[in-house]
Amino acid sequence: MKLHTESRAMLENLKIETRKLPCAVRTFYNTLSEADQEILMSNLSNPEIPHKALEKALREVGVVLSDTAIARHRNSHCSCSKI
Ligand SMILES: [Zn+2]
Repeated sequence: MKLHTESRAMLENLKIETRKLPCAVRTFYNTLSEADQEILMSNLSNPEIPHKALEKALREVGVVLSDTAIARHRNSHCSCSKI
């Protein structure tokens, strides 16, 4: 078996996605009217509302956002910057 001696880059096909995408929370936020954005914002910024409670309340009005997405966004660990 012939040894591979070319100096071709071994990692030339290595691709890592680095685009900054808005997270689920931000994506949803951007679809809202100004009045709704204010309501969502005040709930997101209220530390007395647990992530899970917010998830449940949103689900009751037909919005599906996971508590983990809410938590990451609230803690600025999501793919977008804090609202
Ligand atoms: Zn976010």
